[in-house]
Amino acid sequence: MKIASVLARLGLIVLGFPLLLKAQNPAFDSQPSFKDGPYIFYEGETVIARWITEEGLKEDTLDAGRPLMAGPGFPAAFDPSCIQLGATFAPDPKTAFRKVERIAAVSDIHGQYDLMIALLKAHGIIDKENNWAFGRGHLVVLGDIFDRGDEVTGLLWFVYKLEQQAEKAGGKVHYLLGNHEVMALKGDLRYIHKKYRYTMARMGMSYDQLFGKDTFLGRWLRSRPVAISINRTAFVHAGLSRQLLEMGLTFGAMNDLFREQILDQPEDSILADPYLAYLYSEDGPIWYRGYFEDDFTRGQAQWILNAINMKHLVVGHTSFSEIVSLFRNRIIGIDSSIKLGKQGEILLIENNKFYRGTLNGKRTRLN
Ligand code: CA
Repeated sequence: MKIASVLARLGLIVLGFPLLLKAQNPAFDSQPSFKDGPYIFYEGETVIARWITEEGLKEDTLDAGRPLMAGPGFPAAFDPSCIQLGATFAPDPKTAFRKVERIAAVSDIHGQYDLMIALLKAHGIIDKENNWAFGRGHLVVLGDIFDRGDEVTGLLWFVYKLEQQAEKAGGKVHYLLGNHEVMALKGDLRYIHKKYRYTMARMGMSYDQLFGKDTFLGRWLRSRPVAISINRTAFVHAGLSRQLLEMGLTFGAMNDLFREQILDQPEDSILADPYLAYLYSEDGPIWYRGYFEDDFTRGQAQWILNAINMKHLVVGHTSFSEIVSLFRNRIIGIDSSIKLGKQGEILLIENNKFYRGTLNGKRTRLN
């Protein structure tokens, strides 16, 4: 046998062996290559950023005052220039916003970053570089950025960036809590994309620890409201039931109760208090679906609006293939199934007129 032929045979064996090993060893499949983060942790006086690149876990310890630098492998959505590590994350005590000329609202994005970007771009909310272009307008992100899709972290950083840019332009981003934000903060992992299970394994942390009280995103999320109003339109992730409104809670009180007595409290203490138990229940503001049941009437919708002294109420949570209007825009459902990753709509409000905005930039009047 010629030496070359022997070497070739050996080569085949040597090459073939690890290939075989790779195919048969499940460990290779459980460690896929992916990117995630950054997650920023406050540890005493130190701030540590950790993120995952194709090469593995990266870490940068930030001394006081040193800004976070864009590292290789950071997601495109993450813009370190808008991160203020010393932010206090004080919740906005204001729940009613007036004299806003232009309003846009999207809901239930569920990790579908590209669809969110496409919708905002198609309607001039952001520019070609994904920066705020909506001037003094207000954008409502009506909950459920979390779960299902695999671009949750990038979306959170993107919405955080837009919030900072909007503020500088005299506009505003209102990111409200949905049931999936609350589930994530409570470590309920029923709907997370498997990518985040790999993140948890790489970081050696549970999902709720990635968004704990001593993390940047965790502190930001804990400052989010559940209910607000702009002009004469109220916004809440799922809905306000008659029974909830008969409890006499203002939007400010609901926001405080979620923040202070629900987000970080164990379930048994929530369930022991009738008010908290109701807010947290499937009839509470982040789970309710009553408006879309067959027996819900115009009179009942008007009762809800009178109780909150509003003309319109915008909700997400219950999915349709497009934005839907009940009883001449008294109640508008804007969960247009972005979660499926194929389509979606944005609600636009101008001069008290309501429009469905589609991905191709078209507006259709709602009434
Ligand atoms: Ca929901």
